Amino acid sequence: MLAAATGGLLASGSRLPAARAAEDAPLTRPGHYGFGLGSFRVTTLLDGYVQGDGPHPTFGQDQPVEAVQELAQANFLPPDRMENSYTPVLIDTGEAVVLFDTGNVPGRQPTAAFLVDQLRAAGYGPDQVDVVVLTHMHGDHIGGLMRDGQPTFPNARYVTGQVEFDFWAADERLSGATEQGATLFRANMMPLAEKTTFLADEGEVVPGIRAVAAFGHSPGHMAYHIESDGRRLLLWADTANHYVMSVQRPDWHVRFDMDKDAAAATRRRILDMAATDRLVVSGYHMPFPALGFIERSGESFRWVPVSYQLNL
Ligand SMILES: [Zn+2]
Repeated sequence: MLAAATGGLLASGSRLPAARAAEDAPLTRPGHYGFGLGSFRVTTLLDGYVQGDGPHPTFGQDQPVEAVQELAQANFLPPDRMENSYTPVLIDTGEAVVLFDTGNVPGRQPTAAFLVDQLRAAGYGPDQVDVVVLTHMHGDHIGGLMRDGQPTFPNARYVTGQVEFDFWAADERLSGATEQGATLFRANMMPLAEKTTFLADEGEVVPGIRAVAAFGHSPGHMAYHIESDGRRLLLWADTANHYVMSVQRPDWHVRFDMDKDAAAATRRRILDMAATDRLVVSGYHMPFPALGFIERSGESFRWVPVSYQLNL
């Protein structure tokens, strides 16, 4: 089943056994995707992915397994296996090179933490990144900040939400459910605090890029509005984390959401905005190239992947 599921993702249609397919895929699937947004150049970069059991109970944690499996199958997805991918975004405004999120901790999984390789393939070195924006402090977003104890992006300054930073910096996070996350935060983010600017809702990163409070997935999680010459992009980070489950059923509970109800309310608000304003969306966990539109569908929504819209 897994071989059949992953085989379809390989460019050549080769039939490798599942384990090899997973290990080889970073080399065989596209890893960077670039387009112009007004005078900005946007590149989405595939840090990697993991495959495992699911979507239930990670998605639809408060739902019967049958309901989740039924929705998966109705959308041509396997009922009991899933893939989660990680896509940081680079925006070259002409004045500054801005990277949103940094992928996973190097060396922990064979199929993730490829951000620097993808960056080089797209024509940028890590030393060219001027600003690193952290949408929130989860490990798959701050994991790539350091390599061997040194900053991965040696010339960068950093930007993140004040609420998010303060939450993770509090000593009480070092025990209980937040222990693992707070430990990584101390290793990767704390040493960079002196080079970090802290934003509130509507705060500006550089001209044309501003924060949108999207709390719930984590206490201070931020989305970002990007605009150049009247062209707009909504970078929603982890507002919705599965292109079917979180978009078609935004109220379903998600294991990764630290405040389930706040995350669901934020999801509805942001999905509604994306649909109403017909925005191009980049979502960190949407299938690569992690770009699409949101279409209204009855009481909820559908993810419409980009085709050639951004080439024109
Ligand atoms: Zn994430």
